[in-house]
Order: sequence, then structure tokens, then C-alpha cells
Amino acid sequence: MSVKIQEGFALFSKRMDAKAYIEGEDETLDNMESQKILEIKRERDERRRKLLFDNLDLILRYRDEIMKTPRYAKIDAHYALRGGGAYIGPIAMQRRFCAAGVPVTVGVTLGSLLEIWGTATYKVNCSCGNTAYIRSFGGSPLTGMSVAGAICPHCKNEIHGIRSRPFGDYVRQVMNALDREEAAVSQAFTSGVFGKLSEQCSLEKMISELKLREI
Ligand SMILES: [Zn+2]
Repeated sequence: MSVKIQEGFALFSKRMDAKAYIEGEDETLDNMESQKILEIKRERDERRRKLLFDNLDLILRYRDEIMKTPRYAKIDAHYALRGGGAYIGPIAMQRRFCAAGVPVTVGVTLGSLLEIWGTATYKVNCSCGNTAYIRSFGGSPLTGMSVAGAICPHCKNEIHGIRSRPFGDYVRQVMNALDREEAAVSQAFTSGVFGKLSEQCSLEKMISELKLREI
């Protein structure tokens, strides 16, 4: 026999504050699966971030070729950069929008990342004499102050505490990249011309292809 529980507004508010939701078992299972999927995606992003930076010298040697080869340029690289600002939280490296009624997610691709790293904002001099690349930044949109961290692909040196550039410059490059990705997808929907699934490539596959070329 089911028991009907009367919950007053005060109790309801208290339960919501405690985030104690009453939900069906199916819903609970579905939420648990979603959590697991998110967790696996997070782990994969972490692994790929490490793979990308471990092979940064190789990737930069083939910079021009990657940028003009769509199956390389379109590889997802939203996990590479990390940014955040006071009051605004993490800077999204992916964007969701609606194209012809279809929800689409675009993110910083490998091509975009190389383009971002081509700008003066994202480059610093390393003590070894080579160029290091910014991979994390934080700051304040109000004061414009920022602090960033970079890595040198040559000596693998990590450089911290870079404070010489405005916070907005970092964010603008990411926004421009996402604008370009969004425009490209919208254009595909408008023209009805989409890339083929068989032309997709992963970071792992590209790195092994590039390494083979170096033998
Ligand atoms: Zn260096």
C-alpha cells in the first residue's frame, strides 16, 4: 500500500536546499550513468591533454600541415587550454548552439589551438631561447589583470606567473576561435555540405601517423 506524504512548502524548500530530490528509480539509474559517462570523458580529456603536451614539439613541427589538413585541423582539442576569471568562472572552451533546430556543440579544435598559439598573446620567451606557449590563464574582467602559465615544447620547462598581458586578450582569442567554429558549422547546415565520418581522425591516430613520418 502506498503512503501519501504531504510535504509543506517549508519542508520542500529545505529538501531542495539540501539537494535531496525525490526521483524514480529509472531516473536515478539514468543520472548515475550520465555521471559515469561524464567521469570517463573527464579522464579521457586529462589523458589527451597530457598526450598533446608530451608531443607538443612534434605537433608544432607539423603546424602548417595540420592546419591545412581538415582531418587533423578538426580534431577536438577543447581540453588543451584552461582559463578562468573572477566573477565569471571557467572560460568555456566549447559552445552549444542551435543550427537549423539541431543542438550542436563546437569546441576549440587543434587547428584553432594552433591559430591561438600563433598570436603574440599566447607566446612567451623561454630561458632556453625558444618559444613557450600559454596553456592556462586566469584573471579579472574588471581590472584586466591576469596570470598565466606556459610550457616550452623544446626544453619542457613550465613557466608560471606570466602577468604581462591583459586578461581580455586571452579570452578574445578563445571567443574568436569558437565564433569561427560556429560559423563553419552553420555554413555546413546552410549549404548541406557536411564532412564525412570516415574523414574523422583522433589525436592518438594523428600522433602515430606523424611519428611514422619521422622514422
Ligand atoms: Zn625552453
